[in-house]
Amino acid sequence: FNVPELRNEPVKSYAPGSPETIVLKEALVAARSKQIEIPQYIGNQEIFSGNKRVISPPHDHQHILGYFHEGNKKDVSSAISQALHAAKPWAAMSWEQRAAIFLRAAELIAGPYRAEINAATMLGQSKNAYQAEIDAACEFIDFLRLNVNFMQEIYEQQPVSSEGVWNRMEYRPLEGFVFAITPFNFTAIAGNLPAAPALMGNVVVWKPAFTQVYAANVIMKVFKAAGLPDGVINMILVDGPAAGDIVFSHPDFAGIHFTGSTSVFKTIWKTIGNNLDCYKSFPRIVGETGGKDFVLAHRSAHAREVAIGLIRGAFEYQGQKCSAASRAYIPTNLWEEVKSIMLEELATIKMGGVEDFGNFVNAVIDEKSFDKITNYINEASKSDAVEIITGGGYTKEHGYFIEPTILLAKESNYVTLSEEIFGPVLTVFVYDENDFEGIIPIIDATSPYALTGAIFATDRYAIQYATKHLVNAAGNFYINDKPTGAVVGQQPFGGARASGTNDKAGSILNLLRWVSPRVIKETF
Ligand code: GLU
Repeated sequence: FNVPELRNEPVKSYAPGSPETIVLKEALVAARSKQIEIPQYIGNQEIFSGNKRVISPPHDHQHILGYFHEGNKKDVSSAISQALHAAKPWAAMSWEQRAAIFLRAAELIAGPYRAEINAATMLGQSKNAYQAEIDAACEFIDFLRLNVNFMQEIYEQQPVSSEGVWNRMEYRPLEGFVFAITPFNFTAIAGNLPAAPALMGNVVVWKPAFTQVYAANVIMKVFKAAGLPDGVINMILVDGPAAGDIVFSHPDFAGIHFTGSTSVFKTIWKTIGNNLDCYKSFPRIVGETGGKDFVLAHRSAHAREVAIGLIRGAFEYQGQKCSAASRAYIPTNLWEEVKSIMLEELATIKMGGVEDFGNFVNAVIDEKSFDKITNYINEASKSDAVEIITGGGYTKEHGYFIEPTILLAKESNYVTLSEEIFGPVLTVFVYDENDFEGIIPIIDATSPYALTGAIFATDRYAIQYATKHLVNAAGNFYINDKPTGAVVGQQPFGGARASGTNDKAGSILNLLRWVSPRVIKETF
């Protein structure tokens, strides 16, 4: 085995006037000045159904970036047929040939497509330049490159042989097709969910979120430009339940790679369970769902580190990360200082469109999301159980803007301490600095999720205590850092409980779900 060395893609800074900033700004202007039409990609065909849906930037919803052509159940069936048609030659292709395609895709994003995929993510999903860069460029490139290393690790796992016997393990793809359902909030996830099973030799039907189609189209163009054979990944633009009706009743359905809401994932799981008799194999079910991620500060923590960790963890990308810090537990001795640093810092933060690189906060994804988030804020403003410390303002006149909002809850069971909001709303609960041990079971029990969490402390006993006693409260646990921003290969990502199956995206554990090993014993 000989694959390129493990390395993470360096993040470009987009400083004012830098060459990368000039190129990215040009890409933004070019994208805004035309209207594109996005088809479904099925086999070797681009399907323009004529059923057009408008695409607008969430921060400028009257502007039209283009249209995507929505498909129907027939398109789902034809995507499955095309995938199955491509399955045999794809599985027969050597692992080096498959790897080369995805490594080439990584190089295309690192170079010629970097500005285009970042601009599409900025405009279509309302991400600022930095958030787009760490997602659509770096994280996506990392998934594509590092998965090749993880694949190699898997293939190297071979059984022991004995005298006169040669045992070997063949890592076959699953028999059938994999269904990938991807969310709006990360272009890297949208790309990795179909790419990871495909790298392992599977064929895929991929349904991106309707709110992410603008960048999903660039992903598909990159895969094609990298030489991915027709039918290996088919992108359908079909409403979830309609697609599910066809996919989950197909005998060749072999697995699902999902990121999205807990409730949709539960419905999918139940449907698969009910349909089990119609499948040839037991489907693989891999899902990353919600989070209600905590930041716990100990009385020994540095107030500034806590405050900055909270602002970045809670408000970067408008809190629309599964990993976002959405509940904070601050000891009485630190609260006033943490609060005043947060207020001071937030006063310097600007909110607006992505075209102005000085805007830290952009819009939330769509009106449905805006209404859900602002409903929590409205309820909070009416409740005696909670105080709005800062923010609380919003407007949807030109774009779906919501101010970074901090709530101070009087009780540890206030609704915004347990329910996932998926927006720029952080709830703080202040606990008695002398009862650190007492707050831990509360953190553990308040929410059904267990995705990410963080402890800020300088006291090693406190760090050890929290790490040990919050063992099941987070799949990714951060000591003295915000709970967002997992790097592929460095912090494999995923959670348990209501947060998903914890199959750690960006690691060998995830790729293992996309193979069905066959042992071959040969006797001489
Ligand atoms: N991996 C991302 C992070 O660590 C979050 C992914 C998600 O929102 O699903 O911030």
